[in-house]
Amino acid sequence: MAENDEAREASYRAMLTQVTVDKLADMIIWLDEHGRYVFVNPATTRLLGYSAEELEGLHVWDIDPHFDEARWREHWAEVVARKSFRLETVNRSRDGVDIPIEVTVNLVEYGGQRFNCSIVRDITERKRFEAELRALNDRIYRLSVTDALTGLANRRHFDIQLDAESRRHLQWDRPLSLVLADVDAFKAFNDAHGHVDGDRALQRVAAALQDAVAVPGATVARYGGEEFACILPGTSHTQALAVAEQARLAVAALDIAHAHSDVAPHVTASLGVLTVEGTQPHTPDALLRLADGALYRAKREGRDRVVGVSVSSPTSGVPAAGAG
Ligand code: GH3
Ligand code: MG
Ligand code: MG
Repeated sequence: MAENDEAREASYRAMLTQVTVDKLADMIIWLDEHGRYVFVNPATTRLLGYSAEELEGLHVWDIDPHFDEARWREHWAEVVARKSFRLETVNRSRDGVDIPIEVTVNLVEYGGQRFNCSIVRDITERKRFEAELRALNDRIYRLSVTDALTGLANRRHFDIQLDAESRRHLQWDRPLSLVLADVDAFKAFNDAHGHVDGDRALQRVAAALQDAVAVPGATVARYGGEEFACILPGTSHTQALAVAEQARLAVAALDIAHAHSDVAPHVTASLGVLTVEGTQPHTPDALLRLADGALYRAKREGRDRVVGVSVSSPTSGVPAAGAG
């Protein structure tokens, strides 16, 4: 009687095991030590589109584009050493679709042989979700460093870049130049032409500045309001003055009519250029103050012009100013 119960229990368990293997949504794949398929469950044939008979004549590298025989041997050594672990890879279905999968590997010894018995899960959805999340993160990051009106780098991005570049120029003993540009008589522009045209003018000025500043590694930012700021790494004072003059001409060439400017009948900008050379450290604030001083002089001397100031150590403290 007890023997009968045991037999019934054993057959019940065998039946459940069989149903589990057959009905599981995850793939169960047995590979021998040579990477050959020796057993797959119905989920495998469903997902990969091969029949069990077809698969059982193939090697793992016929299905997994990331594997070859050498990679399999490394994998097998890891299976033997670690017994169970997880990895992500890809299986190519019969009709050529690459399915991202998560594999839980198990070393199983059966009938005197060792097998790689894996539970394999289709993670297409998860991968899609991760990709969407990454894209969303990228977008949020781009938004966080971009000025909404002009599409230039915003003040936050500028501050981060200036901090980094002010260290880098010391580290490599390369010159560093800054250009501050401020649109002239812009309050009067808004008063005369309206805020909407004012916004449009700022967009065009921003684009012109961006185009004019063709220095590799340069950051062109909207510093605030009608002020723009450029970081020109590795740029000498002479080069920076030329870039600023190019930018000044580009703004004027937009030929945006300005009815109430004392400077010109069109929109103009004043620019201050700072170059630091040598190894004397300056804080970003100090750099900005010096550049702002040059910009202030450009305003005072009549606007629509470029004024430069160059500081090189060891002549520390006293900037050698020169109008451009
Ligand atoms: P200056 O030649 O001395 O630079 O004179 P300014 O009138 O340009 O300088 P001020 O600082 O007095 O005025 C700046 C003006 O820029 C005032 C403000 O309305 C305008 N402004 C700042 N940001 C924006 C913006 O996003 N859109 C528009 N349309 N105007 C802006
Ligand atoms: Mg201003
Ligand atoms: Mg202004």
